[in-house]
Amino acid sequence: MEVSFGREARALRLGAGEVFHGEGILAITKALLQSGVAYVGGYQGAPVSHLMDVLVQSKDYLADLGVHVAACANEASAAAMLGASIHYPLRGAVTWKSIVGTNVAADALSNLASPGVTGGALIVIGEDYGEGASVIQERTAAFALKSSLVLLDPRPDLTHMVRMVEEGFALSEASNTPVMLQLRIRACHVRGTFVCKDNVAPAISAQRLRDAPAPFDYGRLSHPPSTYRHEKLKTSERIPAARRYIVEHRLNERFPGQRDDLGVIVQGGLYNSLIRALQELGLADEFGASELPLLVLNVTYPLVPDELGDFCLGKRAVLVVEEGQPEFIEQEIMAILRRLDVNTPVHGKDLLLMAGEYTIEVIARGVAAFAERHAPELPIGSGRAWLDGISARREGVSAQLAKPLPARPPQFCVGCPERPVFAALKLLQQDIGRVHIAADIGCHSFASFEPFNFGHTILGYGMSLASRAGVSPVMRRRALAIMGDGGFWHNGLVSGVQSALFNGDDAVLVILKNGYTSATGTQEIISTPDEEHKLHAPDKHKSLVHTNLAIERTLKGIGVRWLRNVDSYRVDEMRHTLREAFTTDFAGLKVIVAEGECQLERQRRVKPWLAGLARARKRSVRVKYGVDEDTCSGDHSCIRLSGCPTLSLKESSDPLQVDPVATVLDGCVGCGLCGENAHAAALCPSFYRGEVIRNPNWRDRMGAWLRHSVIRLLQPA
Ligand code: SF4
Ligand code: SF4
Repeated sequence: MEVSFGREARALRLGAGEVFHGEGILAITKALLQSGVAYVGGYQGAPVSHLMDVLVQSKDYLADLGVHVAACANEASAAAMLGASIHYPLRGAVTWKSIVGTNVAADALSNLASPGVTGGALIVIGEDYGEGASVIQERTAAFALKSSLVLLDPRPDLTHMVRMVEEGFALSEASNTPVMLQLRIRACHVRGTFVCKDNVAPAISAQRLRDAPAPFDYGRLSHPPSTYRHEKLKTSERIPAARRYIVEHRLNERFPGQRDDLGVIVQGGLYNSLIRALQELGLADEFGASELPLLVLNVTYPLVPDELGDFCLGKRAVLVVEEGQPEFIEQEIMAILRRLDVNTPVHGKDLLLMAGEYTIEVIARGVAAFAERHAPELPIGSGRAWLDGISARREGVSAQLAKPLPARPPQFCVGCPERPVFAALKLLQQDIGRVHIAADIGCHSFASFEPFNFGHTILGYGMSLASRAGVSPVMRRRALAIMGDGGFWHNGLVSGVQSALFNGDDAVLVILKNGYTSATGTQEIISTPDEEHKLHAPDKHKSLVHTNLAIERTLKGIGVRWLRNVDSYRVDEMRHTLREAFTTDFAGLKVIVAEGECQLERQRRVKPWLAGLARARKRSVRVKYGVDEDTCSGDHSCIRLSGCPTLSLKESSDPLQVDPVATVLDGCVGCGLCGENAHAAALCPSFYRGEVIRNPNWRDRMGAWLRHSVIRLLQPA
C-alpha cells in the first residue's frame, strides 16, 4: 500500500518510562509487544485495520525482536494461527472485524477453544456495532458464550486498555482459555496517553528456536473422545480458573457512589458514555465521580457470581447497561442473583433500548427512567430538561422538513475503475433485459446506490457466486455474480468458483481486479502489483494490475475454460464481452476479469510523483476531461451513466438554455470514463479531453502558439 505508517511504527519502539500519545488501537498494538507476543496475524477491516497495517510496515523491527507477523488470507486462517499456542508457551494475537470476521473464523475458534491453550491467545475484535457500522448488527458475545471464550470489554482509557492486553494474556494462560478483547469503534479511536514499558522479546521465536516439537498428545486434538473431556474441563476447571484470576487481579472495577441503595452495572466499553450521561443528568461531577455506585465489567464473560451478588446485595435496585441484543449479561445476572437468593430488582432492557448503539442520550434516558422510578428525590431536573430539549429540537426539525433530506450515500471514488464496469452493465441490460445480480462485499457494493442500483443479495465476503447457485437453475437468463479480487482470495475461489465448476453451473462471474482489498484500506493481496513494477513504471498514471496474473493462472489451473480479461475503462468492450458471456452456447462458468487499478491507491502514487516533478521544475502532464457547454444538450444521460462526483451540473451561460448543463469539476483525474460512456452509449459529443501541462517545454509552447494562431485565423474578430 502507498500509505506510510512510519510515525505509528516509531511509537511501537518507545521504551520504559516514555509516554505514548495516540489512538486506542495503536496503544493496543504497542501493548502486544510489551506483553511478549511471539506471533501476530489478522485480516483487515475497520476499526482494527490499523493494527495489522502498522505491524506489517514494522516487519523489520519485529523480526529483530523475534515477533512473527502474518497478513492472513482471511479470518479463519488468522484464528487457525492461534493453534501455535495449544502446545507451546507462545503468546499469540490475531485481529479482525466482527461480527463478520468472527463468523468466518468460527470453525477454527471452536476447535481452538475445545483443547484450550498453553500460551496466551488473544483475539482483538473490532466490534463494528452501532452508528457508522458497516456490517450486520450482531454481537461477538454469542461466540464467546457458545465456545467458552473469555470476553474482555475494557473501559476506554489507554492505560487501562494496555493493562487489559497484558492481563488478557496472563488470564488466557491461567485458564488455558483463548481470550477475546472487544474494542468498539470509539474505543479504537479514543485518544490519550500511557507510560510505556520496554517491549519484551518472546522466549521462543524465530530468533530463539525450539529444538523439538511438542510430544504427541491425543488429548490436545479436538477429536472424540478428547472433545468430551474438553467440555468438562471448560466447566470444571477453565471457567473457574478464569473467575479466580478476574477476582484476584481485580479486572472488574467498582466505583463507589453516595447512593449505596442503588447501583449501575455497565459493560467496560460503555463506561465513558455512561459517565457523560450521568454528568448530563447531574449525577456525576466533572472528574467522573458518580452519585450511583458502579460495577464496571471489563470482563463480560465469564461473569463472577460472588462479585455480582456482593454488589447487588442490599440494594433497592440495579440497572444493567448492556448494548445490543439479546441481553446476555442481563439475563445471566438475573439467573446468578436468583441462584444466590439475592432479590434485588434488576432493570435493563425494560428501561433502555433493546437494539442499537448506546449513545450518551440513550443511556441518559435509561438512567433518568431508573432514577425517577427508584429515587425520585435525585436532582436530575436539569438533565431531564436537556433530554426534553433534544426531543423538542428533533420534533421541530422534523416539522420544518416536510420531506426527508436527500440521501447522501457513499459512492465510488473519483475515477474508480469499478464504475465503468457498472456503466457497461447498465448498457447491456438495455439490450438483453435485466439479469439477477449477486453482489458481494467490497467497494463494488457502492453500485447498489444511484445511479446503478445493482445487486439483489449480499451474503458475505466472496460469497456472490455461491449465493446465486440456487437462482441460476430457475432463471431464463444467466445469473451474474460480481466480486472483487479481495473477495476472490478471501472466500470466493473456494466457496464460489470451485463449487460452480464442480457442479457444472452455467453462470457469469465478473471479478473486479483492482489489485488491493480497497474497501478495508487498500491492503495488499497475492495479486497486488509488485513494488518493482510500481517503482519502475515509466508512466505512473498507468494501471499496473496486469503485471500480476495470479488470479488468471489460478482460474485456468482450477479448470475455468471461458475466461476473458478486459480493461475496466473500456466500456464498449466490456459491454460486448458481457453480452458474449450471457449469450454464448458455452454452458459452464464464464469469468470476466475486469482490470483496473484502484484509483485511490494509484493517486497516492501519482500525486507525490507529480508534486516532485513540479518541485524539480520538470514537465508534467495531467489529463482532465471537460464539457463543451455549447454542445451539451442538457439531458444529463452522461451523469445517469456515470455517477462520478466530479461530473456535475452548472447553469448555462446561454440565456436560451434553461436546463443546467453538465460540467466537470476540478477533481477529475482523467480516468477517461466520460469519453468511453459518450462513445459506448452514443451520447452527445460535448466531452473533450484536455492536458494540463506544468513546466511546459519548447515543443509544448510552440504547439500551443500554433494552435492559438490557427484558431485566431479561423475566428477573425
Ligand atoms: S478505494 Fe479504489 S476501488 Fe474503492 S471506490 Fe475508491 S478507487 Fe474504487
Ligand atoms: S473522466 Fe469523467 S468519470 Fe473520469 S474522473 Fe473525470 S469526470 Fe470523472
